[in-house]
Amino acid sequence: MSDVPAASLRLKVDTTALTANWRALDAMSGGGTATGAAVKADCYGLGADICVPALRDAGAGAFFVAHWSEVPAIAAHVDPAKIAVLHGPGCNAEADYARSMGVLPVINSLHQAEIWNASGGGKCHLMVDTGINRLGISVAEVSENSVQSLDVDILMSHLACADEDVTMNDAQLNAFQDVLGLVTHNRASLSNSAGVALGLDYHFDMTRPGLSLYGGIARAELASRISQVAFPEAAIMQIRQIPAGDSIGYNATFTAQRDMRVGVVCLGYADGLLRSWAGNGALIKDGADCAILGKVSMDMIVIDLTNAPDAKEGDWLEVPYHLPDASAKSGLSQYELLTILGNRFQK
Ligand SMILES: *Cc1c(COP(=O)(O)O)cnc(C)c1O
Repeated sequence: MSDVPAASLRLKVDTTALTANWRALDAMSGGGTATGAAVKADCYGLGADICVPALRDAGAGAFFVAHWSEVPAIAAHVDPAKIAVLHGPGCNAEADYARSMGVLPVINSLHQAEIWNASGGGKCHLMVDTGINRLGISVAEVSENSVQSLDVDILMSHLACADEDVTMNDAQLNAFQDVLGLVTHNRASLSNSAGVALGLDYHFDMTRPGLSLYGGIARAELASRISQVAFPEAAIMQIRQIPAGDSIGYNATFTAQRDMRVGVVCLGYADGLLRSWAGNGALIKDGADCAILGKVSMDMIVIDLTNAPDAKEGDWLEVPYHLPDASAKSGLSQYELLTILGNRFQK
C-alpha cells in the first residue's frame, strides 16, 4: 500500500493554546476546585489523539464523553477511572461495558440507577436536573432507594444559560446547593465553560469546561484569557481568469462585473463550510481578504484573488476561525463551527 498523498486541507491544532486555555480556566477557580475537560465529539472536532494527551499533561482530572462509542479513543490516553460517560447506562450491555473498561457512568434516570445497581453497582456519577430538562434525575427523585443506594463520586448538574446574565443561573445554583445535602457524594460539579466565568460560587469541587478549552468565548469575561486553538487552512487547487459577465458556481448566483482572477479551493459542506459563509465569508492570504464568490459548490468554493495578486496554485489560505468573529460572520454557533470541521483535514 502506498501512502495517501498529502491533503489539500489542514487543521493546525495549537496544543500550547489548548493547554494555556485549560490553565486559564483552572486559574479562575479557587484552589480547592479541580478542572475537568469535556472531550466528547472527538474533542469538539479537534481530535482526541491530539487534545487528550495535552489536557492530561496539563493536569485535567476528569474527562467527559457523551457516547459509549467515544470511550476507546479517550481510554487510549488516560486512566479509564477518570473517564465519565454522560449518557449513562441505558441497558445491561452498557453497564457491563463500563465495568469491563473501568470507566464511570453518569446516572441520569431512575431506570439507569436500577440498571447500574442490578449490574453490581459500584462507583458512578450522578446527574441531577436543576432546570435544563435535558438528562438528569429530578430533585424529587433523589430520595428514591435506587438513587440513595448509589456510590456517587461526582454529583453534578448542568447550567442552561451560563452564557447569559439571567436569574436562571442563581435559581439553578440554589437548587443544586439544596441537592448536595440529599445524597451522599464525594465531589460536586456544576459549571461548564461559561459557568467558570460566573464566579467561585459556581465552581464547587470540579468544573467541566469544553468549548473554551478549544478557543470558544462563552462569556465576555473569557475573551482576554482564551486563545484560538483551531486553525483550518486550505490550498488553492486552480487559478482561473474569469471574463466580465461570466458567472461562478452552482445556480450562477455570482456574475463577474469585471475581468477577475479567482481561485478554486477544495473546501465545502463536508468540511464545515456551510452555505451561510457564502456572501459574507472570505479566506485570508497573507493578511488579505479573498471573498468567497457565489455559492458553496458542494466540495468547492471559488474566491476572489484581486487582493492577493501573488497567490499561486498550491498556496495555503487561512480559514478565519477566531470563533466569536467566525460565529458573527457565518451565523453558526461556536460549538457548531468546531464540531462540523469534518475528517478531511490533515491534523
Ligand atoms: C458538554 C458538556 C460540558 C461542557 O460544556 P461547554 O459549554 O462546552 O463548556 C459540561 N458538562 C456537561 C454535562 C456537558 O454535556
